[in-house]
Amino acid sequence: MEDLTSSLLQLIVETSTNLPGDVRQAVAEWRDREDAQTLSGQAVRIICENSDRALTNRVPLCQDTGMLTFWIKCPQGTNHALVTRSIHEAVATATRMGVLRPNSVDSLTGKNSGLNLGPGTPVLHFEQHEREDLDVTLLMKGGGCENQNAQFALPCEFPGLGRADRDLNGVYKAILYAVYQAQGHGCSAGFLGVCIGSDREGGYAEAKRQLLRPVQDQNPVPELAELEERIVRDANQLGIGTMGFGGRVTILGCKIGALNRLPASFFVSVAYNCWAYRRMGVRLSSSTGEILEWRFRSESPARLAETVAAVPGRRVKRISTPLAREAVESLEVGDLVLVSGIIYTGRDGLHKYLMSHEPPVSLRDAIIYHCGPVMTKDELGRWVVKAAGPTTSMREEPYQGEVLRRTGARAVCGKGGMGSGTLKALQEMGGVYLNAIGGAAAYYADTVESVEGVYLLDELGPPEAMWVLRVRDFPAIVTMDAHGNSLHEQVREASGQALREIGSELV
Ligand code: SF4
Repeated sequence: MEDLTSSLLQLIVETSTNLPGDVRQAVAEWRDREDAQTLSGQAVRIICENSDRALTNRVPLCQDTGMLTFWIKCPQGTNHALVTRSIHEAVATATRMGVLRPNSVDSLTGKNSGLNLGPGTPVLHFEQHEREDLDVTLLMKGGGCENQNAQFALPCEFPGLGRADRDLNGVYKAILYAVYQAQGHGCSAGFLGVCIGSDREGGYAEAKRQLLRPVQDQNPVPELAELEERIVRDANQLGIGTMGFGGRVTILGCKIGALNRLPASFFVSVAYNCWAYRRMGVRLSSSTGEILEWRFRSESPARLAETVAAVPGRRVKRISTPLAREAVESLEVGDLVLVSGIIYTGRDGLHKYLMSHEPPVSLRDAIIYHCGPVMTKDELGRWVVKAAGPTTSMREEPYQGEVLRRTGARAVCGKGGMGSGTLKALQEMGGVYLNAIGGAAAYYADTVESVEGVYLLDELGPPEAMWVLRVRDFPAIVTMDAHGNSLHEQVREASGQALREIGSELV
């Protein structure tokens, strides 16, 4: 098995940097369905450009390289300990290369293990099969979409949809409600894996396993095939669109499996995957470990991007840091801005820190960027950004208003929008929320001209540290302005109305 570790490393590199062929096809169709003149159309074009650059530059598609989950099917007599060791070695090497972000954190101390190894990470599922080869599939599912997974116990009541009974109509309501709830936070357009039945643990596991099916396959169970189609069609009537900006495409695929259950339980488990649907597989020789065949990899991936030129007729504004209050107050929801100057990254660890400490550097009139970048050092020991897309902002809602007031920062940049506390603080302070395009990590890394410094690296670890980045023409959409307007609220209201209309037709 001398080639096993290097084959597994290839699998990780390919999964992190290259969208699978079936996902590429779905993304191309999404791009063609969203009008380039809209916010959703603009955002999906940035996602396409990002995907092309990630492949060309061999950098992560998204900075959140996710929970690494391997399914390993092996012939009888396989040494599991040896395969596990090879996976661990390959994961550690990929992390050192900057293909994976250090993403494994001690749940009690908050300390990052550094190489994506530790109790429970990576996740390995071994299974024996009746073949001679070793079959390995890897799914890299990020935290933003993992946090949108949902599990429902039927019967129950869904606002706007009414009672969900223990039948396929009830299942339909549960899945549609999960899509409505996920809006803005899971980097749509997304993909759904669903399990009907099992217990709570088995339901979630099977829902995730459904994500291993090809996007364009057909469910062999006719009722489930029909339900999958119905979900995709109706979820796209909600009008949530790319990133929750409002648009035609919200869901790109739905895969449903059913497992037996206890008579007393009826769970519907939903695994929500963002557009950065990274999963690939390899068939390996069980004697040498060499790759015999790839699954999901497109042999000659076509470019996805057309152009990322600014949308004609849309307001495009250039802003630079430090931000002047008047310039920020002139911005309105729906404006596309190109930011130049210094931005400071900060996410969960930093926001908690700032509640009880002075910032390590003045943040007056600054932009706080919710981002945990993938960083490496070059041969001269200088920091280099490999991937730097936004993380889900809503996690910082309990802190953000106070952090803005304490520090005097004038803008927050992230993805998915924030709540009423932040909106109020932005109004008071003359600030804005800038929605960057979730997952466009390779694209945003290219806007970074230099890394000017880093604070709290030892205390918080690389993804949580405060990185000082000089950017040029960093694109983002104003989705919460200084006048109390929020695009997220508008889309939530409109999609809620659409959900109620669908619900009323079911009665
Ligand atoms: S695309 Fe969005 S949800 Fe998906 S891993 Fe990246 S940041 Fe997380």
